[in-house]
Amino acid sequence: MSARKVPHILKLSAKEQKEFVNSFDVVLCDCDGVMWMFSFPLPRTGEAVNALKDDGKRVYFVSNNSQRREEEYVNKFTRIGVKDVQADHIMYPAKSMLYYIKKHNIKQPVFSTCSADGNDVLRRGGVDVRTLDVKEGVRLSNLEEITEPKQKMGAVLFDVNLDINYVQMTAATRYLADSDCDFLFGAPDPTFRLGKGPFLPTIHDFYLILKRLTGREATIVGKPAVLLGEILKDVYKLDDPKRCLFVGDSLDVDIPFGLNCGFQTLLVLSGCTPIEEMWQASAEDQPHFYADSIADFIELYANISRKA
Ligand SMILES: [Mg+2]
Repeated sequence: MSARKVPHILKLSAKEQKEFVNSFDVVLCDCDGVMWMFSFPLPRTGEAVNALKDDGKRVYFVSNNSQRREEEYVNKFTRIGVKDVQADHIMYPAKSMLYYIKKHNIKQPVFSTCSADGNDVLRRGGVDVRTLDVKEGVRLSNLEEITEPKQKMGAVLFDVNLDINYVQMTAATRYLADSDCDFLFGAPDPTFRLGKGPFLPTIHDFYLILKRLTGREATIVGKPAVLLGEILKDVYKLDDPKRCLFVGDSLDVDIPFGLNCGFQTLLVLSGCTPIEEMWQASAEDQPHFYADSIADFIELYANISRKA
């Protein structure tokens, strides 16, 4: 199917803008590329979230980035001026893994190759997290002994971890030989680049190695998996998906996630997607709306109040 004309929220008529903001009660918002660019701020994004909150919208944040502590998230939101941010209003893969482990009553220890921050979330949630941190002295002669499954694991947890190494991949492969051992994967983002540089390896590339070697498909608990949508609907009591707006900067994970879950979708161009890619996408993969930035809501609300 060919692309269609996606409306920019500031190009809608005042009447349409009013209908648009009246069409949702909940805003689910990605973080990197929407609220900030990793460590750089984006202008007026906190103010825009406050404008949505002042209009009575419930706002939650849904990131695929578990390499940041919950307190760090809250501090970042506070620094950019977002009011009333609670840690419970932020969801990311380590937290959805915790939800899954509790829901499925996995009592055994789990083997994790996730980041230290991700493991910390799980441990604080009561999960017995085992890791393998051998940095030196590994030879082919002792690899078998070092990576030997020490006991039965309830799950192998796999997510973004810039320190992941061959030994951990080998141990994960061996634990996954047990078909009773669950396999959870956090952020399956297929592409990653720094600014306009070349595409870089993602943790998804490493996942494909495990999948090829073990023949196992992981249960994905991050965007764009519908399972995450089910978790959000349960945790945040989202009764009517059509009245939720998902705001994201990625055509790879955010927009398909929103569409898969039956949410309305808004692509912002402040992050990783150039506008040409949105126009090149087929109609079924395009968002319902787009904006230069979530900060466009400030002008949108100003337009509406002027015309009121
Ligand atoms: Mg993003």
